[in-house]
Amino acid sequence: MKIKILHKGFNFSQDGPGNRLVYHLQGCNFFCPWCSNPESIARDGAKMTVDGKEKLSCTEHDTDEVFSEILSGKMMMFSGGGVTFTGGEPTLQFDALRELLLKCKEAGINTAIETNASHPSFVSLSELVDYMIVDLKHYDAEKHKNVIGTSNEKTIENIRKVSKDREQLLIHIPLVGGFNSTSQDAGKFAELIKSFGNEKIQVEVLRYHEYGKDKWTQCGMEYKMTDGHVSDEEYTEFVDVLKRNGISIIKT
Ligand code: SF4
Repeated sequence: MKIKILHKGFNFSQDGPGNRLVYHLQGCNFFCPWCSNPESIARDGAKMTVDGKEKLSCTEHDTDEVFSEILSGKMMMFSGGGVTFTGGEPTLQFDALRELLLKCKEAGINTAIETNASHPSFVSLSELVDYMIVDLKHYDAEKHKNVIGTSNEKTIENIRKVSKDREQLLIHIPLVGGFNSTSQDAGKFAELIKSFGNEKIQVEVLRYHEYGKDKWTQCGMEYKMTDGHVSDEEYTEFVDVLKRNGISIIKT
């Protein structure tokens, strides 16, 4: 089976526990205007112009080749590490992702994914994933759709379903000024997360940054964010509201 990879490399602690081999897969069904990997969005890869030269954002590989690479990197997966699939949105290449997760599980390799949890068959992956990170960008369907282009309904439904029996689930909230960063927003997020009914859920709040800004231009797209910054006070207040509501907060 073929799989399109944006980039890959070892990373310690931020994409799951320990030292992990992280694969960024091509393609995303959301269109977040703050995306720090905008070249990951086009399903077949984005044409980028870097230093006057044109290149495609991704390369295509055989899943067998990728799995061999994973096996040969096993010694490096120390401190409880393993393999992480992120994006883009890794579930868009569902069959290839499933095959690799399955093979890793069979080989005793710790698996993680970071996902927007919107794929219709997302729930079926849960048993193959040791460490799951889901991005929850907004609690409100309308606002989510207006800004990101897709409703959050499937995401919320899927998180609710996997919450029923997961021992571990990390929710990432990207905190973006003008979109979801007020203390009222925090209260609504807390309400929603509590309604999932799983006390093991942890939340990490990630502040807006502009790291991917230049890449939008390289892909021939306009970076439209103007007021996404979140002050220290707003961030602290947001996190405090979640904590006061009994939500467990972590920072990786
Ligand atoms: S879901 Fe992630 S990869 Fe997709 S557009 Fe949003 S930030 Fe980018």
